[in-house]
Amino acid sequence: MRIVLDPGHGGKDPGAIDPVQPWQGDMLVTREDEIAYDIALRTRQCLERAGYTAYLSRSPNQFVSLQGRCDFANRMQADAFISIHINAASNPEASGIETFSYPGAIRGARLRDLVHNGIMRMAPEFRDRGAKEAKHYVTHYTKMPACLVECGFCTNLEDEKSIHDPGVRARIAQGIANGVVMFLGGG
Ligand SMILES: [Zn+2]
Repeated sequence: MRIVLDPGHGGKDPGAIDPVQPWQGDMLVTREDEIAYDIALRTRQCLERAGYTAYLSRSPNQFVSLQGRCDFANRMQADAFISIHINAASNPEASGIETFSYPGAIRGARLRDLVHNGIMRMAPEFRDRGAKEAKHYVTHYTKMPACLVECGFCTNLEDEKSIHDPGVRARIAQGIANGVVMFLGGG
């Protein structure tokens, strides 16, 4: 069994950026690509401990196009594909974790549900925004069951503090891995 973990963005594309905003008590700088990479790396470690082989779709500072990520997973003939992102919104109140599969993808929805529930069980301090459908490029053009998880909002101070905590990222990663293991183990 092979899993491809897809840390969003990277290189010339940092993804969402949340700057220091001291007037709001926000002393943290967040780059989505860095947090996503760290969670993906930790997820790979969890999956390897569980006896699975996992690959990352990019290296730490590498830019890979969306099609490049899909091509990689399809070439690897992966059994599951999980894209890992951090959310951002203009409303600083928006918070929580949400997980998406492509509309109508039955096995993708099963993977999505297991990954989402796995994370929420391991990281219950986050608001549960639910498991949903959305037309993301990488969940469409990958040939295996695929989902995309938004691991909290860097624009929300509580979420941002959480994702800056390595212990929280480790729990999110364990939750993703638990969901994937359940999916591949007969889900
Ligand atoms: Zn993203």
